[in-house]
Amino acid sequence: MSELSPATTTPVAREFDVVVLGAGMVGSLFALLLTRDPAARALRVAVIDAEQSSLPAADAPFDLRVSAITRASEDLIARAGCGPALAAQRLCRFTDMEVWDADGTGRVHFSAGEVGESHLGLLVENRILQAVLCEQLWRQPTVTAYCPRRLHSLQRLRHGWQVTLADGEVLSAPLVIGADGANSRVRDAAGLSVSTWDYEQKGLVCTVTTERSHRHTAWQRFLPDGPLAFLPLADEHQCSIVWTLPTSEAERLQALPAAEFAAELGRAFEHRLGAITATGARAAFPLLARHAEQYTREGVALIGDAAHSIHPLAGQGVNLGLLDAGVLADELLAVLKAGLPVDHARALSRYSRQRRGHNALLMHGMTGFERLFAARDSGLRVLRNSGMRLFDRSGLLKQWVMRTAIGR
Ligand SMILES: Cc1cc2nc3c(=O)[nH]c(=O)nc-3n(C[C@H](O)[C@H](O)[C@H](O)COP(=O)(O)OP(=O)(O)OC[C@H]3O[C@@H](n4cnc5c(N)ncnc54)[C@H](O)[C@@H]3O)c2cc1C
Repeated sequence: MSELSPATTTPVAREFDVVVLGAGMVGSLFALLLTRDPAARALRVAVIDAEQSSLPAADAPFDLRVSAITRASEDLIARAGCGPALAAQRLCRFTDMEVWDADGTGRVHFSAGEVGESHLGLLVENRILQAVLCEQLWRQPTVTAYCPRRLHSLQRLRHGWQVTLADGEVLSAPLVIGADGANSRVRDAAGLSVSTWDYEQKGLVCTVTTERSHRHTAWQRFLPDGPLAFLPLADEHQCSIVWTLPTSEAERLQALPAAEFAAELGRAFEHRLGAITATGARAAFPLLARHAEQYTREGVALIGDAAHSIHPLAGQGVNLGLLDAGVLADELLAVLKAGLPVDHARALSRYSRQRRGHNALLMHGMTGFERLFAARDSGLRVLRNSGMRLFDRSGLLKQWVMRTAIGR
């Protein structure tokens, strides 16, 4: 039977009010924000994930997948009751950002002090944030963890959804939340179409050791082929790099012997932190932008990468997803407080209205930004560089942009 066809027979299913597919950073935050609120104490919530997250050993090498978490996302994590647990993990609170153009003299420096903040955001390994959130989530009395368990299929019922796991167990719920990442099965099963834009680039990621301290600064150099970011880790001499490159160039650099790769990387970064003394394993991810045409349908909502994935140049990907999680949880709690069922259409349409436009704006902005910095036209280059210098001295405008970027 196709995933889209209505189920004709209903096997004995365990009933829930909400099924969340995906306990990544976004799905687990959403489920926590919902279930920790007293208004949701009567909800039965199932959370499914194929992978069981766990904290790495204290001396384990840094993982390749790290995220720059904005202050707004940090506030949501604190609201979910995970602030102290996250603060106890290895992470880097960065206080400054240095952005410069490889093709001229344009430079912008952001400092937390300029907006009266202690830091601009924090750099944390994805697996650490996910494990901290899940540890708290599995303690919620209304949550049933199906983890590690894989989804087999999703079928529409007359009212709600039937969710079949790979081992044959069947669940049902009026509301399914798709937090299952960029290749979302929930999105496909609900028939929510998605537009895709291929940048024909790859993001090359690697942990590197540098001669000089990163000074708690996130560094980004705009090269004609794409940006190169050095993101500071908990060890002052280690950074996680994200280097955006045309696909063939990323593959060439990925295959180089370590010493040659370190030398090319050092040159591309203008040796801002001295010599690159060691490089870890390298991986390269194809860069695609995807945006679901709709985030919701009766009984379904998408959050995080299931709804959108964007260019990593602004380090905003997961932050948009965490904001989706906050808004959707708030809207569901609002209908519950009004005495309405959790799958009420009002909550879903209000969620979609608030988040889709916001995310679309940011996605278009990122594409425009990427093109502006890739432009080789000399007039544009001069404009871009003088614009950066003017912006750096712009006082209030710069403060406003900083506040918008950190979400405070
Ligand atoms: C090179 C690169 C660099 C990036 N850098 C940054 C950055 O600096 N800052 C930033 O904000 N973002 C960054 N991002 C984006 C960020 O990693 C993603 O936005 C984020 O991981 C999305 O989180 P999510 O929880 O929505 O999805 P995911 O992390 O994909 O989680 C989905 C979860 O669903 C589970 N799942 C999926 N399918 C099934 C199934 N069938 N059955 C059971 N479970 C299932 C998975 O196991 C997983 O746990 C970067 C991305 C790339 C490619």
